[in-house]
Amino acid sequence: MTDSAATTDGTSLPDSRSMAQEAKRTVLGPIQRQLNMASILVLISSVFAVSTFAVFVEVGRRLLEDSNARVMPLVFVALAMLGLKGLSYSGALLWTHIIDTENQTRLREVMIDKLRALPLGWFGDHSSGEVKKLLQDDIEAIHYMVAHARVEFVAACVTPVLILAYLLYVDWRLTLILLIPLVLYALALMVVMGKQYTERMREYNEWQQKLEETTIEFVDGIQVVRTFGQSRRAHDRFRDSVDGFAQYYDAWMTPMTRIEASASLLLNPVFVMGVVLAAGIPMLSHGLQPVDLLPFLMVGLGLGTTVLTVGYSIQSLRQADAACLRLYKLLTEEELKQVAIGTTSLPVSPGRVEFVDVRFGYRPDTEVIKGVSLQLEPGTITALVGPSGSGKSTLAKLLPRFYDVTSGSILIDGQDVRLMSQADLYERVAFVFQDARMLRDTVRNNLLIANQTATEDEIARAATAAQIHDRIMNLSNGYDSVIGTDANLSGGELQRLSIARALLADTQIVVMDEATAFADPESEAMIQDALAELVRSRTVLVIAHRLHTVTNVDQIVVLSHGQVAEMGTHEELLGRRGLYSELWSSSLASDEVTATPGSHDDAASDFVKAAVK
Ligand code: ADP
Repeated sequence: MTDSAATTDGTSLPDSRSMAQEAKRTVLGPIQRQLNMASILVLISSVFAVSTFAVFVEVGRRLLEDSNARVMPLVFVALAMLGLKGLSYSGALLWTHIIDTENQTRLREVMIDKLRALPLGWFGDHSSGEVKKLLQDDIEAIHYMVAHARVEFVAACVTPVLILAYLLYVDWRLTLILLIPLVLYALALMVVMGKQYTERMREYNEWQQKLEETTIEFVDGIQVVRTFGQSRRAHDRFRDSVDGFAQYYDAWMTPMTRIEASASLLLNPVFVMGVVLAAGIPMLSHGLQPVDLLPFLMVGLGLGTTVLTVGYSIQSLRQADAACLRLYKLLTEEELKQVAIGTTSLPVSPGRVEFVDVRFGYRPDTEVIKGVSLQLEPGTITALVGPSGSGKSTLAKLLPRFYDVTSGSILIDGQDVRLMSQADLYERVAFVFQDARMLRDTVRNNLLIANQTATEDEIARAATAAQIHDRIMNLSNGYDSVIGTDANLSGGELQRLSIARALLADTQIVVMDEATAFADPESEAMIQDALAELVRSRTVLVIAHRLHTVTNVDQIVVLSHGQVAEMGTHEELLGRRGLYSELWSSSLASDEVTATPGSHDDAASDFVKAAVK
């Protein structure tokens, strides 16, 4: 396991052990003290449990010495201790459950605040499966640790120690003999686990991670791979990782399970009784009293099974530690820097955007945007073009702060976007990307997110301009239809709805992805019309995938390897005979293959022409 890791700012993290401790402190911090107190209650309950046995043994001893002995008071003492043991144990459990409820509420609140503060880009980089795992499974693992495992672990550790102390007091020689099966069992376990246990656990965790990733990939991508008849291939990748994990686990566990199963016979109460009797009976002639065999037969036999419980609770504690670490990593993710909420609202301004020597990388070692400077004048359209992977989407996403620049700055009317509150920023900037996300709520509420005070009339006007009003009116409950339940909208329809939302937001600046994902020509034509409506008299930054849709824009920025290669209008750039003109020629060539001649002039497929007209 690596001991240190570099953070995004280049500083190194503490080694993994202190990171685990820090994780525990963060996740369990406020409840550690209460948990310790509950553990003390469990310790007291273990003392009562062992004392009860000791008193019963005393009852047996007295009865063996004199069958008429008065033992009833002792029996009542034992029963009272048993009652106290039950009370203290269930009291501890009740307490840990109360602590856990408070801790879960606190943790969920902290996590929700964190998720609110993370850059939007974080959600693109982490699947919903991962977020669900953090919010649900990991918090559940921590519930198990706080409410159960800790209590079980303390009881499982303390009880055998107390039993041993008691047995040593009764007869140390027989106690040592009783320990022989336990020691043999521990040795057998050490042999099977081998010295590389930590290494094995690391490999095991890696396999689990891989398995999780392929499962998420398989499920997330199932629609796409099926569409392209590749489900077998995707399925193969998933199956390969399942098979690989199974083989690895089998090779590790099979010999271990065999030896472990044989070794656990050593802890079997019948076997232990045999050992106690075989050793104890000959000792009777060497000073051991027959009654002294009683405690060994009454409490000594259960010693092994208590030890097994330690193993099980260690496993649960380990899983909870891993969950703590994942939650800690989330809680220490870098947040968008926030200015104080409630800052004075911005003065009305024209919506001029400036990128000043912007640099950005998803990882510290690879820069994706390498010093880009450009200006978007108010009310103009700027298209970002360039080969795939040149950084168009990344650059566009920096403006609505999906990520923050690594250096340089992005200014809106002279103000750095990082110094604007989120509310102010999103009052200025709207974005429409291809994967339109909607809430499982009514169509109306999905639109109202953009503008809480919009009237019915305004909503209908925006939806009409976005070419989606008629479709909504045809749904069973019109604007009250719930998306995903009684409104199953296609990708193109969802995108038009997201354009309606952006229209309602009525921001000065719009960042968008040109629509290419939906091949259906009718849907695409409607999206282009809706976009034409959206871009009218706003400052627009558009990621253009097809050059012929942006020939009329005010400015075309050609990106290459994260840098501006050329900038100008379509005609200027063609005249320069550089990268743009190369891209243009190859786009013409590929369109000749896929489209009918003259399709470039099709007004429906060119939202910019429609907007400029
Ligand atoms: P374009 O939009 O021009 O196709 P992108 O901005 O999507 O280019 O990608 C630019 C580079 O950044 C590519 O090398 C891509 O692999 C990388 N990249 C894009 N998104 C991510 C991400 N979320 N995490 C890490 N690398 C990314």
